[in-house]
Amino acid sequence: LQRTIGANDKIYLDVVQSSNIEGVTKAVTRPIQKTSQIMHLVNPIIDNVKTKGDQALIEYTKKFDGVELKAPVLEAPFPAEYFEGLTEEMKQSLDISIENVRKFHAAQLQKKPLVVTTQPGVICSRFPRAIEKVGLYIPGGTAILPSTALMLGIPAQVAGCKEIIFASPPRKSDGKVSPEVVYVASKCGASKIVLAGGAQAVAAMAYGTESVPKVDKILGPGNQFVTAAKMYVQNDTQALCSIDMPAGPSEVLVIADEDADVDFVASDLLSQAEHGIDSQVILVGVNLSEKKVQLIQEAVHEQACALPRVDIVRQCIAHSTIILCDNYPEAFEMSNKYAPEHLILQINEADRYVPLVDNAGSIFVGSYTPESCGDYSSGTNHTLPTYGYARQYSGANTATFQKFITSQQVTAEGLDNIGKAVMCIAKVEGLDGHRNAVKIRMNKLGLLPKNF
Ligand code: NAD
Repeated sequence: LQRTIGANDKIYLDVVQSSNIEGVTKAVTRPIQKTSQIMHLVNPIIDNVKTKGDQALIEYTKKFDGVELKAPVLEAPFPAEYFEGLTEEMKQSLDISIENVRKFHAAQLQKKPLVVTTQPGVICSRFPRAIEKVGLYIPGGTAILPSTALMLGIPAQVAGCKEIIFASPPRKSDGKVSPEVVYVASKCGASKIVLAGGAQAVAAMAYGTESVPKVDKILGPGNQFVTAAKMYVQNDTQALCSIDMPAGPSEVLVIADEDADVDFVASDLLSQAEHGIDSQVILVGVNLSEKKVQLIQEAVHEQACALPRVDIVRQCIAHSTIILCDNYPEAFEMSNKYAPEHLILQINEADRYVPLVDNAGSIFVGSYTPESCGDYSSGTNHTLPTYGYARQYSGANTATFQKFITSQQVTAEGLDNIGKAVMCIAKVEGLDGHRNAVKIRMNKLGLLPKNF
């Protein structure tokens, strides 16, 4: 049975020794994803958008977001009234984040094509091209997320995407999207904001409607309806649309040793725990004394009680654990197995241990690097693989908005070098046409003996 933490209880994490296999397994098990269960709700929404286009978008926005739209799309340049309420301080803060994200993602651009001569006369190359049209989903149901807007919009602009479209559910109060999101949309050159959320917004961008252009790739986090729709369209050849990555609840793993500052450790755990009741928070302790563990628990309790979202925190901490390890390699082995979205290192000489990390979305190195900095302003991307997908996925980056084309040029000398090998392999595969395409050329060049 899941532990519960009542309003008068101490907000403490569970504690297990790393040797307690059952306890550790329970601590690192992620909640089951419900995507397949809600397909039956999402399928009719997608079908309706496919057949009724804008009309369906207008109807669903009325039904799910309580907003009656005249038109489902806001076109750039965005009218001044959509920026109302944006403060100078907010603009400057967004500008700092935008410039840092731009700098880090521009540095990832490959300047020259990669060219390799594999054998004399055989020249291979590889070069990037931007994905032409991208649709960026900015969640808007329960929170406004200009940070998500800039983490997707700026790399898309840096990569050179020709058309950038935002989609976000409009606010019930006035039918607009937040001015912060509109500001980021204008800064990254978005051409349109689709005023819709959920599966209907994803379907509109995947198939196109009268006013929403069909895009080539859809990116961005969202609730279960958004995620299910993204999974659906990426498997539908009619949509011919890819997505960024599977999304699950956000998570953090902190590795701390006896020298770690207990207040810093507690604040890092809580900044994740406040996300949602299904967020995952794990502290891996290296040689922690009983006293240190108790101090961390106390700091978590005290800081949590002062947070406005303490009710969410209680439910998250109820399934969060401190795993006690005997040494650093064991702690990193634990972390690599879990493959956290965010990995925070609050250990002595933290930078020396980075080479031990094999699986993680993004790493926060040392006591003055809270996750919040990467979430907003350091320059790295906060769109990261969750659910253990850090084993095989990277977080969003400039290449996420590009695809790579390869090219080869074979000269007569090159054909002489590899032609016979090609013919031999084509023969064993029973593909005589392939063999012939080489044979005819080599014969004309006089490179083959008679009757070869
Ligand atoms: P959202 O924009 O994802 O979803 C809101 C939309 O859901 C509504 O517009 C509506 O169309 C649809 N919807 C609501 N109820 C529905 C129903 N009964 N049937 C069909 N459609 C329905 O906003 P949200 O709900 O606040 O969810 C945001 C999610 O994004 C959260 O789960 C949050 O954790 C996640 N998130 C993740 C990251 C990340 O980087 N991993 C970042 C930000 C947010």
